[in-house]
Amino acid sequence: MPLKSLIRTIPDYPKPGIQFRDITTLLRDPVGFQQLINNLSHPFTGRNIDTVEGIEARGFIIGSAVAHQLSVGFIPVRKRGKLPSETIGQDYELEYGNDRVEIHRDAISPGEKVLLIDDLLATGGTAIATLNLLRRTGADIVACGFAINLPGLGGLRRLEKEGVPVLTLIEFEDS
Ligand code: AMP
Repeated sequence: MPLKSLIRTIPDYPKPGIQFRDITTLLRDPVGFQQLINNLSHPFTGRNIDTVEGIEARGFIIGSAVAHQLSVGFIPVRKRGKLPSETIGQDYELEYGNDRVEIHRDAISPGEKVLLIDDLLATGGTAIATLNLLRRTGADIVACGFAINLPGLGGLRRLEKEGVPVLTLIEFEDS
């Protein structure tokens, strides 16, 4: 079964006009979940990835499974104020207000080869902020991987302009 058909769309969630792409229906399908993780992992086998970074919260689910598949460690990229030890963070703009992504200061060593994973690429704001955060650690960013791309929102273009290879598996044209 194509992965796309396992994703449920909730109209007007969390606010009017947003088509929320719900991956819980994909995650609960054993074949779909396995295929998702295989497709996000296989291009990176043999690429000497050191760690996978997953963005809170759905990026934790997918990213940790990808890390496990690649037999490497996992680093959570959390939203503001959630990590217990000393952090470094990067602020970014949202449609209304702003947000911040953080990692532990000692999580990544300079030169470490990292793979950034999230569930969905929309405007690219979250991913680019995370990319800038990872760059500040001296990490070597091998690629970014997403289950879903919403091409209408321009995130893929913005992220590719950053000079980082991007892998996306599923597209919804009517973002
Ligand atoms: P952006 O920073 O605009 O690329 O938004 C990406 C982040 O917001 C990801 O972490 C997604 O989980 C979430 N997101 C944005 N738009 C949607 C959507 N239509 N459906 C589900 N999640 C979304």
